[in-house]
Amino acid sequence: MNKPAICGGTPVRREKIFYGHQYIDEQDIQAVVEVLKSDYLTCGPKIAEAEKKLCEVTGAKYAVLCSNGTAALHIACLAAGVEPGDEVITTPITFAASANCALYCGAKPVFADINEETYNIDPANVAALTNEKTKAVVAVDFTGQSVELDKLLAHCKENHLVLIEDGAHVIGTAYNGKKNGSIADMTTLSFHPVKTVTCGEGGAVLTNNEEYYQKLLLYRAHGITRNETQMAHESHGPWYYEQIYLGYNYRITDMQAALLISQLDKLPLFSARRKEIVKAYDEAFSKLPQLFVQKEIPESDTTRHLYILRIKPEKLTIDRKQFFDALGAENICCNVHYIPTYTFPYYEGLGYQKGCCPKAEKLYEEMLSLPLYYAMTDEDVADVIEAVTKIASYFAKE
Ligand SMILES: *Cc1c(COP(=O)(O)O)cnc(C)c1O
Repeated sequence: MNKPAICGGTPVRREKIFYGHQYIDEQDIQAVVEVLKSDYLTCGPKIAEAEKKLCEVTGAKYAVLCSNGTAALHIACLAAGVEPGDEVITTPITFAASANCALYCGAKPVFADINEETYNIDPANVAALTNEKTKAVVAVDFTGQSVELDKLLAHCKENHLVLIEDGAHVIGTAYNGKKNGSIADMTTLSFHPVKTVTCGEGGAVLTNNEEYYQKLLLYRAHGITRNETQMAHESHGPWYYEQIYLGYNYRITDMQAALLISQLDKLPLFSARRKEIVKAYDEAFSKLPQLFVQKEIPESDTTRHLYILRIKPEKLTIDRKQFFDALGAENICCNVHYIPTYTFPYYEGLGYQKGCCPKAEKLYEEMLSLPLYYAMTDEDVADVIEAVTKIASYFAKE
């Protein structure tokens, strides 16, 4: 057996590979350059064009583009009417923004544990935590796999809760043949460079509901309206507008919107390649008894944003940290998604305690994120598989 580099063997790769990387081509660059030469750098025609494109790609009726995925979550909570005294249920296996958005509105995030095989929020736990204070559920499509929308929607409808899908990972995924983004009350997206499509920084809220849509537009831009039907007073003239809510400046530029349109053109390519890589990983790792392969619900036709490698600690002589370091020594640079949100010092300060979601905490101890992005070559994929196989086999417990 080949010795892992950490034990003095030869690394699988000479050059480092990272867990994610954006893909920008000449079309993307030209799209941005054109905007720079045009009259509008912000509040121009590219915003509506990108929103229209997002509706085409996701099947949503309305899209509101904004500055990032966190801003999208914030205005979605505001549009849902989340207020001080309310509770918002979410998962701890996510980026902090999925819970912070509730705090921004003065509400309390409540953490529901995950399904230990799919890693997504468990609808039964959401139901168990629902009470008269619960206002909304922020369900994260972790890794790009859809949450169990049928169950969550039924529960939310019955209890008059708003279902917000944090779809930062989900673009390109469909649930029961319908694109995610066209199903929940609202779905938020992120276009950060590690995500499947990027425009540098960017986000969006998708909805089929006209009332949410109108509110989202207001919260994105200072709560200011130029629509006379929304005004309290008579117009003073063509310059007149009114501020009717306390909104924010969560706008995005036309350069970013143009880049997003160009990137969305490539989504079918991005999606197909990610599916190929995931298939190769799944096939290789399902043969290794030291590893657990993430389960997929049959309803989700997934474009994976992240590939989670989960170790079975009882079958290995090393832990996740050592596995991570061993991969690093092979020049496979991984990451870990995510540290359970409520274990952060800020949340501890609010009174949250370890032990609240045992399945999420166990997953956190056992997982790491492998490289997964469009531009990976077949050789890159083969290297990752070789390195993982080498380490899992070398450190296998008899
Ligand atoms: C990236 C991400 C966000 C935040 O998006 P930004 O665009 O970085 O603000 C929110 N939720 C999840 C699950 C994410 O992965």
